[in-house]
Amino acid sequence: SPYRAADDRYATMPYRRCGRSGLDLPAISLGLWHNFGGADVFETGRAVLRRAFDRGVTHFDLANNYGPPYGSAEENFGRVLASDFKPYRDEMIISTKAGYDMWPGPYGIGGSRKYLIASLDQSLRRIGLDYVDIFYSHRVDPTTPLEETMGALAQVVRQGKALYVGISSYSAEMTAKAAALLKEMGVPCLIHQPSYSLLNRWIERGLLDTLKDTGIGCIAFSPLAQGLLSAKYLNGVPADARAAKGGSFQEGMLTVEALAHVRALNAIAERRGQTLAQMAISWVLRDTRVTSALVGARTVAQLDDSLDALGNLAFTEAELAEIDTHAVD
Ligand code: NDP
Repeated sequence: SPYRAADDRYATMPYRRCGRSGLDLPAISLGLWHNFGGADVFETGRAVLRRAFDRGVTHFDLANNYGPPYGSAEENFGRVLASDFKPYRDEMIISTKAGYDMWPGPYGIGGSRKYLIASLDQSLRRIGLDYVDIFYSHRVDPTTPLEETMGALAQVVRQGKALYVGISSYSAEMTAKAAALLKEMGVPCLIHQPSYSLLNRWIERGLLDTLKDTGIGCIAFSPLAQGLLSAKYLNGVPADARAAKGGSFQEGMLTVEALAHVRALNAIAERRGQTLAQMAISWVLRDTRVTSALVGARTVAQLDDSLDALGNLAFTEAELAEIDTHAVD
């Protein structure tokens, strides 16, 4: 059916300025790592994308190898762009990345100029775009000079293939070095994409300070710890959940200790009148240095639930202190 975006799509979503740039991002963004690949039901993903945009989610996050198979999430997003989103392209921030394994041989992985430039060209063809809004180095490649990787990012901006660039999962130290190199090249680093959740607080130990100092925004990936920060695993593993499918999140990660923390956090969320997923999203957004929470969603119902986190973003000091006793790592 033809798509027309909801007229009230900008009524409720807060937008936050990304570091010291001119770009705003929605407080909640949608990632296509899972659930949008060739192995998934296309119409379900399409419905999730439409619903997201109707509710003010203007940012969609991709990478070259999202699928499975690799490349298929970009292809599927490109299909929806062509059929539904074309009139709205200038209302959207579309990102992609290169860094992990993508194609065979030495030029399909890592941080070389050769790989990054070729990969972005492939991504643009799959999505059907002349440029992406943000292109990321997906991870540090310790075997490649940082000057080369950052040089490739600066190059794609000069070529007009990306408007902004970012880095993902770089340590605080490597982030400071990358930011300095990019600044020298006249291309500011817009954004950092680290993992961050109630169960994974590494960015509080230095990275957030570095981002503040260097004026780089922060988009937190896996704020639900891949779904662990919900009530779904408290009474076993549902057949349709990510943990039952193997791959990135395995049943072995559901330890007695982790589930005890999840149970306690779930009780706090209930007292706040939120689902645990909602509280987990609100919690990463409590720090104003976090520009956006980058969630995944398998269904429209999950997406709606997560976006309703915006109904309660405030925490009392007492709540935060209690949460700290259960927020591990
Ligand atoms: P989340 O932590 O948000 O996990 C999403 C999963 O949680 C869903 O697929 C679903 O899993 C479950 N879920 C989502 N909403 C709800 C809800 N309201 N209630 C209950 N369960 C829910 O994020 P992801 O791990 O999916 O990562 C999000 C995005 O971050 C990726 O798509 C990608 O764009 C980015 N990312 C980047 C990485 C990087 O290296 N830069 C690495 C990882 C992610 P289920 O199927 O079990 O129901």
